[in-house]
Amino acid sequence: MNLSEVPVSAHSLSSADQTLVESVLAGQRRALAKAITLIESTRADHQQRAQQVLNALLPKTGNAVRIGISGVPGAGKSTFIEALGVWLIEQGKKLAVLAVDPSSSVSGGSILGDKTRMEQLCQREEAFIRPSPSAGSLGGVAEKTREAMLLCEAAGFDVIIIETVGVGQSETTVAGMVDMFCLLQLPNAGDDLQAIKKGIVEIADMVVINKADIDRQATAVVRAQWRNALHMLRPASPNWAPPVIALSALHKEGIAEFWEQVEKYQAALKPTGEFQAKRQHQSLSWMWQLIDSGLRQHFRQHPRVQANLPALTLSVEQGNTTPAAAAYALLDYLKH
Ligand code: GDP
Repeated sequence: MNLSEVPVSAHSLSSADQTLVESVLAGQRRALAKAITLIESTRADHQQRAQQVLNALLPKTGNAVRIGISGVPGAGKSTFIEALGVWLIEQGKKLAVLAVDPSSSVSGGSILGDKTRMEQLCQREEAFIRPSPSAGSLGGVAEKTREAMLLCEAAGFDVIIIETVGVGQSETTVAGMVDMFCLLQLPNAGDDLQAIKKGIVEIADMVVINKADIDRQATAVVRAQWRNALHMLRPASPNWAPPVIALSALHKEGIAEFWEQVEKYQAALKPTGEFQAKRQHQSLSWMWQLIDSGLRQHFRQHPRVQANLPALTLSVEQGNTTPAAAAYALLDYLKH
């Protein structure tokens, strides 16, 4: 295909949105917040504008390192992110913290929603903190967070941290949008087995045992258990064995060591092309997820599908029609 045929909607930006794009590029946090609000809106006209704004900003994205931090409530995620953030700012970096928490619409409060969390970071110009959108489904929340991440990159943030709670699908979802996925664990022996069962270990690029100050001995035991567990797995990359580090977010110990691993990870995977390949793979799989959900929505809204679905559902339940025959009959309606 001729590239000029690809619809680049930047041309059709209104002047107000053009100003928004320029303000985001200039790193203005209010403009960034406004652009994120636009992408989070469910209104069709906002969605269209949001995609135009994103398209215009896309060439300026991709320059940050994207880090996922997952851990059960109480593992110390916000304490750690605050300590890391303050440390990164001291190193001259700017960071954005986003969250994926599909439970927020149910529980009423989202992770990062509580203003008292990350008090120091909240006050820093070099940090941008945004709670999880309360958009319902995990797919919806994740899509908005991915797009918010791109906006933050266009605004010049060097480090993007995506926080998620260590329950359910959200970890896999976050691992699918970051360069490096880190598991924050407590020094409780036995937790490792649970993570292995859930299949989380396979997606961890680093394991961090927090609260090492509470019990150094237990921390050493858990660290060894994790090393053994990781050793038994085939690593995702032959060039990276996920490290297990211990730290104390509360006492700000081990923060520099954490960052050292982030830099080592990039140094190991960038020259081999794996770092870029991972991002390309993530972009394509995101595109396919959107196509899948778009098709599903189109299918469910089709009048003939809607008319025939209840009867066919019943027929499959009662064993009068096979699931395959019903599925093909319903899909056939889309052709007409
Ligand atoms: P989150 O729910 O994962 O965000 O956890 P928080 O960051 O809110 O931490 C939960 C509790 O653990 C708070 O009372 C923190 O002060 C405490 N905490 C966090 N990190 C450490 C640590 O390294 N050592 C100790 N002793 N307590 C910590």
